[in-house]
Amino acid sequence: MLEQIRETHPLVYRNFISLGRENAEHSLGRIMELDRYWAQLERREPPAVLLSGDLLPQDVTVGEECDLLYAGGTLGMLHAAVMAEGYHRDVLLIDRGVAGTSTRDWNISREELLRLTQTGVFSVGELEQVIVRQYNTGWVEFFAEESRRKRLYIDHVLDCAVDADKLLGLAKRKLLASGHGRVLDHTTFRRCYVFPDSVVVETEDESGKVSYIRAQAFVDVMGVLSPVAMQLNRNRPHTHVCPTVGTIASGFADADYDTGEILASTEHADFSAGSGRQLIWEGFPAKGTEYITYLFFYDAVDSDNDKSLLGLFEAYFRKLDTYKRRGPEFVIHRPVFGIIPAYDHDGTGRQKEIAADRVLLFGDAATLGSPLTFCGFGSMVRNLPKLTAGLDEALSRNTLGKRDLESISAYEPNVASMSNLMKYMCYDARSDEPDFVNELMNEVMIVLDTLPHRYRLAMFRDEMKLEELMTVLLKVAWRYPAVLKSTWQKLGAGGTVSFLKNLAGWAISPTR
Ligand SMILES: Cc1cc2nc3c(=O)[nH]c(=O)nc-3n(C[C@H](O)[C@H](O)[C@H](O)COP(=O)(O)OP(=O)(O)OC[C@H]3O[C@@H](n4cnc5c(N)ncnc54)[C@H](O)[C@@H]3O)c2cc1C
Repeated sequence: MLEQIRETHPLVYRNFISLGRENAEHSLGRIMELDRYWAQLERREPPAVLLSGDLLPQDVTVGEECDLLYAGGTLGMLHAAVMAEGYHRDVLLIDRGVAGTSTRDWNISREELLRLTQTGVFSVGELEQVIVRQYNTGWVEFFAEESRRKRLYIDHVLDCAVDADKLLGLAKRKLLASGHGRVLDHTTFRRCYVFPDSVVVETEDESGKVSYIRAQAFVDVMGVLSPVAMQLNRNRPHTHVCPTVGTIASGFADADYDTGEILASTEHADFSAGSGRQLIWEGFPAKGTEYITYLFFYDAVDSDNDKSLLGLFEAYFRKLDTYKRRGPEFVIHRPVFGIIPAYDHDGTGRQKEIAADRVLLFGDAATLGSPLTFCGFGSMVRNLPKLTAGLDEALSRNTLGKRDLESISAYEPNVASMSNLMKYMCYDARSDEPDFVNELMNEVMIVLDTLPHRYRLAMFRDEMKLEELMTVLLKVAWRYPAVLKSTWQKLGAGGTVSFLKNLAGWAISPTR
């Protein structure tokens, strides 16, 4: 595979080969698999993976039985551990790779992470152990003329680096020790047959052996490529995406290990891969001498930009020195990457399909995390107590129909409304000057700087209140009236009405 990209993506080739051929091939395989997402969207019909029980072949032998069958062992591992250890539900978790390992690490504040103690399954001491570094502060800065450029400092936002594998390993140990949980690695979800009183899930292991498992409900936590989400949402499970690539590396000449760089742009819109995208960097110190840098952009699913991770990796290696200088000791430990999905709900409540009878989606498969901060891990942490208690109650009452299950969701009207702000981060050549995103965001930073600290905290922690958002919006419009014209051009009539519907839904929401 590596040789295939030698000519087309020479910088990716050269940098990946430094990881050793086996590691490089492995990462490239994962990247290419994610990049097939775009081809999947082109299909007229997604493959049907949720099927009526009548279609289960007659000669099938159903082997194991459990209360809940999970497919996907990243965020799924956290949920499954609580159901097994906290609620004593019999769970079986399958993953086509190794469950409880992740291709990325996570940032979150200590206060948010410690909310996991509310599940009664994780202790403060255990959670402290998974934090590999905490920074003094963080900042956000957009590329504007130097005399007007505002570097906005924010404390207690994304300031803890969490070793994802450590946290998931902790959850996995709890699940296995509970006496109620089992894990099958290298086992792929193929399809799910839905009966009135149960589901039968068809799986395939590494050797090609097909098995059938009966459960009361099936929990899909298969991430952005979830075939279930594709089917339920008729091949459009996301409206926007944030393709993200980066590395965990050592040896930058100018990395500050006490500060998180939450958002940083170093240039105006980039036109090298379509009609234009606003590239944004992030830099976070990790354990020891490690430093994580990400490059990403916000975009609509149907834009004409090249959104492939491979293409973005080439841009990352081409532009990296404009953000952080590689010193003579620079070495890459591993690449980090993913397509982070978002959904823009056109209505006063959740519009995305996240459930069917006896089937429920969580994590990126459900795509209910913030479309602005894209903190899917943070969303799961915040919602885990409610998502586990809700499912336990549904099992106890045997209320496992679509309507019942879809009420067990991480949908938060304040978070969903952030999709309207996210659209301003998506550069659009039809309505925007090349400096549009940077200028507007610089104004937002200036406004946030004049407001009490809780405003910036709320915005970057997905905890914004309606009155706080209105204050920020009005102040930005007052300082920068050009945004009103752009709003009309960017969102159009439909988008503006949708924005108002979101705000109305938020205003009447009991969780406001
Ligand atoms: C580079 C990057 C950095 C990020 N940083 C942060 C951060 O700092 N803070 C934060 O809050 N969020 C962050 N996020 C977002 C967060 O990582 C995701 O929201 C989260 O990982 C989603 O988890 P998931 O379990 O839903 O999906 P995934 O992480 O994609 O996991 C899906 C799992 O399902 C398995 N699977 C897939 N298909 C099948 C199948 N057919 N059968 C069986 N198993 C299957 C996979 O092997 C995988 O283990 C980041 C994302 C990226 C890409």
